[in-house]
Amino acid sequence: MKKILSILGSTGSIGKSTLNIVDKKKNFFKINYLTANKNFKLICKQIIKYNPKIFVINDKFIFEKVKKKFRRKKILILNNFSTRDIKRSDITVSAIPGIAGLEPTLSAIKKTKKILIANKESIICGWKLIYNCALRFNTKIIPIDSEHFSIYKLIEKENMNLVKKIYITASGGPFLNYQKKNFKKIEPKDALKHPKWKMGNKISVDSSTLMNKIFEIAEAEKLFNIKNKKLEILIHPESLVHAIIEFENGLKKFLYHETSMIIPLANAIFNEKLKIKSFFKSKNKSQIKNLSFKNVDAKKFPLISIKQKINQYPSSSIIINAANEILVEKFLSKKLDFLGISRGIIKILSDSNFRKYAVKNPTNINLIIKIDMWARKTVEKNLHNA
Ligand code: NDP
Repeated sequence: MKKILSILGSTGSIGKSTLNIVDKKKNFFKINYLTANKNFKLICKQIIKYNPKIFVINDKFIFEKVKKKFRRKKILILNNFSTRDIKRSDITVSAIPGIAGLEPTLSAIKKTKKILIANKESIICGWKLIYNCALRFNTKIIPIDSEHFSIYKLIEKENMNLVKKIYITASGGPFLNYQKKNFKKIEPKDALKHPKWKMGNKISVDSSTLMNKIFEIAEAEKLFNIKNKKLEILIHPESLVHAIIEFENGLKKFLYHETSMIIPLANAIFNEKLKIKSFFKSKNKSQIKNLSFKNVDAKKFPLISIKQKINQYPSSSIIINAANEILVEKFLSKKLDFLGISRGIIKILSDSNFRKYAVKNPTNINLIIKIDMWARKTVEKNLHNA
């Protein structure tokens, strides 16, 4: 029986990696729905190649254009994700960046047996909603971020009370070896050149500031119900070990795999019953060697200092995520310098209204949006007054 597969964000880096897996096992999959935003060319290509039942396109103009182009084809093109129109999938991959991914992820959970979540922002901002929705609809959640997929595998059969520490590794991004004095000259094109991973623009910038690691700490706290002080960030430039678990009995286990998202994706899709060789050509024929680990230089990467703050209050992560989304957008459109990202985040943490919003319990989507909107407006105001 074919597996029914759907993807939120099919034209992005994670979406395309998932479709690469589909290409290698065409007879195994049937595509239910795909979603994207505004990559007209690729949306059209994917409609022709994968023949999905439904394509959801977020951008209104592109939606109209695609709808017109495929008016004679048997496909439902939608502008909004509506669970009413969608049939159940076996597997859904959630890969829309930012909080924009939260509502589609919640809708998708209602209509799938298994959800592979790459969209870390929806986990850190809306974990309670995701968790409760998955319980209600009997949907299995598998984290796809390579560090969290590794932790998920490493603790699968373990007693969490015996876990002493979890180390999340970081490549260090493109500026690991930059001198601090050169940080002010960093341009968007430099931040997008990640040394190890090929990813979308937003996560690439987050990796260059190390904000991505702070989000991953928050993500691990939520997913594995583990205390912040048991989580550590470790620089590992080779990006081959993704997480290390230290147990109370003195043993340490780590998970090592090559730097490709195909590995967590394919293992999650096929429940680890696969020969990875059929999906992925290994670049690294050599044996395991030259693994190095070191602490983060907090002077170069000031955002590391907010590790304990990201989940200090129930909604701190929503505020920090929203602020970061605005600041990264401004940096990418050259309206803000690179150091302005960390400045902007640190500034909102000392806003006189921060605590008022951060202490709210994010039990529904409207409240999450309200807190997110406050943070966005505050960051805009701070930038305007700077
Ligand atoms: P990309 O920017 O490459 O792709 C984003 C996808 O989402 C595209 O299909 C895009 O459509 C669509 N999209 C963008 N904005 C919206 C919106 N407002 N509404 C609906 N769809 C939208 O991102 P990545 O694939 O790199 O990342 C996706 C998520 O996975 C992120 O949360 C990231 O943190 C996480 N992740 C990614 C990893 C990676 O290796 N890339 C690794 C681990 C986690 P279009 O192309 O049409 O504009």
